[in-house]
Amino acid sequence: MKKADHFTKETNLIQLGVGFDDKTGAISVPIYPSATYRHPEVGKSTGYDYTRSGNPTRQVLENGLAELEGGSRGLVFSSGMAALTTFFLHFSQGDHLIVSEDLYGGTYRVLDQIFANFGLTVSYVNTTDTEAVAAAISNQTRALLVETPGNPLLGISDLAALGKLCQQHEILFAVDNTFLSPILQRPLEFGADVVIYSATKYLGGHNDLCAGVLVARDEELGEKLYFLQNSTGAILPPFDCWLLLRSLKTLALRIDQHCKNAMVVAKWLEQQPKVTEIYYPGLKQHPGHELSKNQAKDFGGMLSFRVSTAEHARAVLKRLKLISFAESLGGVESLMTLPAIQTHADIPKAERERLGICERLLRLSVGTESVEDIIADLQQALA
Ligand SMILES: *Cc1c(COP(=O)(O)O)cnc(C)c1O
Repeated sequence: MKKADHFTKETNLIQLGVGFDDKTGAISVPIYPSATYRHPEVGKSTGYDYTRSGNPTRQVLENGLAELEGGSRGLVFSSGMAALTTFFLHFSQGDHLIVSEDLYGGTYRVLDQIFANFGLTVSYVNTTDTEAVAAAISNQTRALLVETPGNPLLGISDLAALGKLCQQHEILFAVDNTFLSPILQRPLEFGADVVIYSATKYLGGHNDLCAGVLVARDEELGEKLYFLQNSTGAILPPFDCWLLLRSLKTLALRIDQHCKNAMVVAKWLEQQPKVTEIYYPGLKQHPGHELSKNQAKDFGGMLSFRVSTAEHARAVLKRLKLISFAESLGGVESLMTLPAIQTHADIPKAERERLGICERLLRLSVGTESVEDIIADLQQALA
């Protein structure tokens, strides 16, 4: 395969897989559905034995993701939750994890309702407050898992400070980077040991694929995570690997448009009398604005806002025409959700309310449609 160290990561992403198939010169990576592989002789292998353990289409994708992220090993999974679950399998009974409280609801659910049964203990902490994280560390603490920007309130955690803290205490630092993608933020550069994605979101980008990613900074951790994945089996099938490969080629282009649109929409929402609060790191009054500028290239396509009553929030969702009322995010199509009822429903009500995830809060994944059409839809829906 061609390898070009002197190109930008964005260029390498577009060229991903070009030259893989020298025999035909195919530009697009072939899909290898083969479940198993013929061995040349006893004790010899082509490098592929069985598709759960390795697949050529998946390999191109995993190598590309590792390179994009600046890590040594990339692994792709059947969903973001499969990636997170495999990461949590790295720990043992009695281990303690510190996790962002402004967190994807499914991550909370798997920890609270499944891994708790296996003796993992978890502290949910406001990770935008580095001192609060430091205070939560105990002798049993093995890892810190951070989402920044947070979900759904877009709080910004200080990656460099948290990276340093984890290093001092010799705990693993993991970042769920789903909201920004490696085009905007590369946590490994700030000391993270592993980066996690729901590739269902921006990496896939078209609301047509469910996938997950882990990228480990060092080979040893990468090898352990690979062992866990190969042992438990949550791999991404070859057809879906190909779809994700294709999606990645336009990732930088798409992210650019998401960011541009989101900034325009955020500034417009800010002016609306019916919008009582708006959360977008790109706005100057956002408490994480400066920090965000230091650790990310742009502010992403996700924003949340509040209207004055729960009834109004429901009416807005009902009136939407262009924007779909749907869970998920990161696709070219704009989506709006009511986190309290959908994505964060598994977080207990009292906890949700403490965090500010009320029924007046709407989360918008700003798509790449013409921004005037997105705004026109919001305008008629808010009216
Ligand atoms: C969606 C999401 C997940 C879970 O990913 P799936 O692909 O839905 O399994 C994890 N983390 C974040 C931040 C997400 O948005």
